[in-house]
Order: sequence, then structure tokens, then C-alpha cells
Amino acid sequence: MKWDELFISNYATPDLTLVKGKGVFVTDSQGKKYLDFLGGIATNVLGHAHPAVVKAVSKQIAELGHVSNFFAHPKALELAQLLQGLTGDKSARTFFCNSGAEANEAALKLSRKTARSRIVATDGAFHGRTMGALSLTGQRAKRTPFIPLLPKVKHVPFGDAKAMKRAVNRKTAMVIVEPIMGEAGVIVPPVGYLKELRSICDATGALLVFDCVQTGMGRTGNWFGFEDEKIKPDVITLAKGLGGGLPLGAMIAMGSAAKLLQPGDHGTTFGGNPVATAAGVAVIATIKKEKLLANAISAEKIIKRKLSKFSGVSEVRGQGLLLGIGLDYPVATQLKQRLQLRGVIVNAPNEKTIRIAPALNVTKVQLEKFVIEFQAALKEVENV
Ligand SMILES: *Cc1c(COP(=O)(O)O)cnc(C)c1O
Repeated sequence: MKWDELFISNYATPDLTLVKGKGVFVTDSQGKKYLDFLGGIATNVLGHAHPAVVKAVSKQIAELGHVSNFFAHPKALELAQLLQGLTGDKSARTFFCNSGAEANEAALKLSRKTARSRIVATDGAFHGRTMGALSLTGQRAKRTPFIPLLPKVKHVPFGDAKAMKRAVNRKTAMVIVEPIMGEAGVIVPPVGYLKELRSICDATGALLVFDCVQTGMGRTGNWFGFEDEKIKPDVITLAKGLGGGLPLGAMIAMGSAAKLLQPGDHGTTFGGNPVATAAGVAVIATIKKEKLLANAISAEKIIKRKLSKFSGVSEVRGQGLLLGIGLDYPVATQLKQRLQLRGVIVNAPNEKTIRIAPALNVTKVQLEKFVIEFQAALKEVENV
């Protein structure tokens, strides 16, 4: 592969070139087929080449491929209406962009319009790599090479409501939290944590922003990843699954937060592009039609029941189809490689975790196949 001669070295050189995808399967340049349990990192919610997405995108590119934000077009309207419906809040207003980092940048700019500037985020959180989003990201290795970052951003331990309460005051513009920390290795907060964040923000007037870039779009068995706690944030950010594989992000603001940005305050050329939003409409319609929220929950149950019995597995964390398989020993990279040889793609966010985020329409048969290969790979790694 000519990778090293062509690309900036910000990514490690990949060992596979993928050329084709269909459903939960991808094929590499050698013709080998893999069960894709990473799904473009929680992005391909409908799998590869879902007919609904292919049809919507093909039709849209032939009809109207791009217009500037000086003009409206039907698909952006339709998608914003669907998103408003999913929030269950008529005051919800959407800003479309192209990625998760951009959605969080938009939230950051929106928060500046409160006339406050302090921000509280959590240790280990991932909110993106652009300078603003990186300032929110709570991972030292990603931050340190790029200091100075934005001032007045404080990080507190994730899942610790008391620490959050101490850090947030009347000067805090926003609190940003992932409902489940994805990149950190699928870290689930204690029950009631998100609700406590809501009351801390209510008491101080800080905006509560839930970064649902990874946990949104049905991934956790509900639309946004925080719904089990029966509360609503002021701002939701989305990307990954939203475009079903096309670059599409969104910031949704509700209540008075929806009124903060004014004409001229923010914008993007491609945000809300007709083709990307057509894909988004197809994704939401298909998740509803194929009852994929329920499928994500039954898949979670199967994986948790089977995998938590395996020796070498300490726990299976997460919700729906965002799962972190905790390992007794730091062998995640080895295990990932063994799985790849066996035709299964996963990832290792750290040495004691395997993360899986397959398409929400994964079948029982495919789950069984994954379980069998996982067990076999685990034995191989133990025997090394
Ligand atoms: C992936 C991710 C982002 C960044 O999204 P990009 O599209 O890579 O910019 C932000 N927040 C969370 C929770 C993510 O998982």
C-alpha cells in the first residue's frame, strides 16, 4: 500500500483496504469477507449499502445535489422536523453541520451567547479534535500537543455528581457530557447521574449539553442515549449514525437555548446538504419501520448473557449496541487482531476493552457468529 507516501501520518497505516460492504459485512481488497462489528465506529447504523439509504441518496443527487444556506430545500426541512419529533419538544431547533466536532463547536459558540464563558466537561470524555472541541475533550494525550487550548474549561471526574456540583456556578455557560462515554471505552455513569446534572444546571442557569454523537440515533435502544432518565438537556449534539454513513452532524437546541444564535453568528457551507439530509431522513424512517430500537435492546441482552459467562471477560458494559467488553487481562489489541484473522472487525479503545457497535439491524444469526468467533479468539489469546 502506498499509504505512507500519500497521507499525512496522523493515522497509523491501516493493515486492511476495504472495498465493499453489504449489511453487516465488508470485503477487503483480497476478497476476504468480515463481520463488521465496529460499523465505521458506531456510524453505519443501518449497515452498509442499505437499500433505503442508497435509494434516497441516488434520487437526491440526481435531483438537487447542493444548495447554499441562502436557500431552503425539502430534505433539510423534513429531517429537522423528524428530529424535532424525536425530542418531543416543539421548541427544538436544529443546526446542521458535517461532523461531531462541528456539532460541539456549534454548542460551544451557542453557549458564548449566554454572556457567560466558563465550561465544565468530564475527564476521559471525547468531544472531537478541532481546537474548540478538543478543549472540551478530557483526554490528556490528545490535548497536550496542542496547548494552549480554550481557557476556562474545567474537567471533573465522569459519573461524580458531587464533583460536578462543586465545579458549576453562576458563571458557567455550559456543562457538556456524553450520556455514555464511547471513546473512553464505553463507560456508563451511575443511574441518576444525568438527572443530577439537570438539577445542577437548573440551579445555576448553565446550559446542559448532551453529546449524543456516539450514543444517539438509536444506538442505545433509544433515540438519544439519555432518555431512560426522563430528563431533557438544553442542547443535543449528533453526528456518526445520523447520516447512515454520509457526513452529517446536528446541534439541536431547546427552549431559550434555541434562541441564542442570531443571523450571522454561525454557518457552514455543506451543513444541511440535500444529499446528506436525504440520507438522514432515510435513516430515521428505516429505524422506525424496521423497529431497530427494539432490535438493539434484544441484541444487547444476547451479547451480555453469552459473553459475560466467558472466562477472561470481566464484564460487558454499555447499552443497546454500544458495548464495551471488559477483559481480565490487557490483551485487547491481540484479541482484536485474532478476531480480524477470524473475519470479525472490532476495536480496542484501551488494552482492557473491546468495543462493538455493529449495525442496529444485526441479526441473531450474525450475533451468534460473533459470539462463537469471540470465544475462539479469546482462547487463542489465552494460549499464547
Ligand atoms: C466521534 C465523536 C465525536 C467527534 O465526531 P467527529 O465526527 O469525528 O468530529 C464527538 N463526540 C463523541 C461522543 C464522539 O463519539
